[in-house]
Amino acid sequence: MSTKRDYYEVLGLSKSATADEIKKAYRKLAIKYHPDKNPDNPEAEDKFKEAAEAYEVLSNAEKKQRYDQFGHAGMGGAAGGGGMNMEDIFSQFGDIFGGGSPFESFFGGGGGGRRPRQNKGSNLRIKLKLTLEEVAAGAEKKIKVKRNVECSSCGGNGAKNGTEIKSCATCGGSGQVRKVVNTMLGQMASTSVCPSCHGSGKEIKEPCDTCHGRGVELKEEVINIKIPAGVSDNMQLSMSGKGNYPERGGIPGDLLIVIEEIEHEVLKRDGNNVIYDLYVNFADAALGTSVEIPTIDGKVRIKIDSGTQSGKVLRLRGKGIPDINGYGRGDQLVHVNIWTPKELNKEEKEMMEKLKKSKNFEPNPGKSEKGFFERMKEFF
Ligand SMILES: [Zn+2]
Ligand SMILES: [Zn+2]
Repeated sequence: MSTKRDYYEVLGLSKSATADEIKKAYRKLAIKYHPDKNPDNPEAEDKFKEAAEAYEVLSNAEKKQRYDQFGHAGMGGAAGGGGMNMEDIFSQFGDIFGGGSPFESFFGGGGGGRRPRQNKGSNLRIKLKLTLEEVAAGAEKKIKVKRNVECSSCGGNGAKNGTEIKSCATCGGSGQVRKVVNTMLGQMASTSVCPSCHGSGKEIKEPCDTCHGRGVELKEEVINIKIPAGVSDNMQLSMSGKGNYPERGGIPGDLLIVIEEIEHEVLKRDGNNVIYDLYVNFADAALGTSVEIPTIDGKVRIKIDSGTQSGKVLRLRGKGIPDINGYGRGDQLVHVNIWTPKELNKEEKEMMEKLKKSKNFEPNPGKSEKGFFERMKEFF
């Protein structure tokens, strides 16, 4: 049995109240019982929450209809807003008070005490294509990047050489201004970037001719990038401080490098393993042979045992991609496929006809021949 008060009663309204009246009533109570106006007053906090819950339900057409019809029983616990925490309640306020909530600077982590942050420039983002061999070995690349660097004439302060730089009169050099705003809860202070100096804290008498006071100029630079072995497609590396310098001083942003792996002609990457599809002819598979195959380290010769079946997987340990975190190297997996001739001449046909009658040519997969699934289990 619920001991909850009727939502209309909480807001001091009749059941015929309009949406606008509901909003107005709640706004009044929210201000009256707001925790900032009633510090250490649990009773006010309860009222504050009660009003928020009532509003949560009555401001939502669907919930209101259910409530009107079934009362609290129709709200089924959490749906009624019984689980609303303070954060939920404050997040409603944008809607109720329109635009900026008067409470935001208190609960958004602001409200003074925030340290002035140093101006940081924007990040740059480039794509870098790498071959599988480069991925495996790691790579060093020189790339051209156009970015904002500190102006070479003024060194980034934006002032014409030798001219005076004063502390900003508006903010006194702090780069920030405190504003006292009158809100429904009384006066509140908020801090923002100084509009006169844009946060630099300085006032320039005469702007630099090169950068017109911005303190930066666009330059093409050659940047040396070291790519560690084992990166993968779409991985993002960042070089701190190689992005744009911000205008009027500060610290530069970062250069973000997005890896694009160029597909290898014959080798396929699977995590840190490399997969190669090998085709051997039927006679070689029966008699045994050795073949030269590509790896990311170059060619190697591998042995094919006599009687090798199609689908066999050979593992070349450590011939895969190095782990990016230094945990060893993957393997190369060689999938053996037996090549079946697509065309035969008369002589070949005659030989085949003879061979196919031989007892050894009868398929006889015993227990020792693993099927596809067992082979896969072994490898993954
Ligand atoms: Zn300059
Ligand atoms: Zn200023």
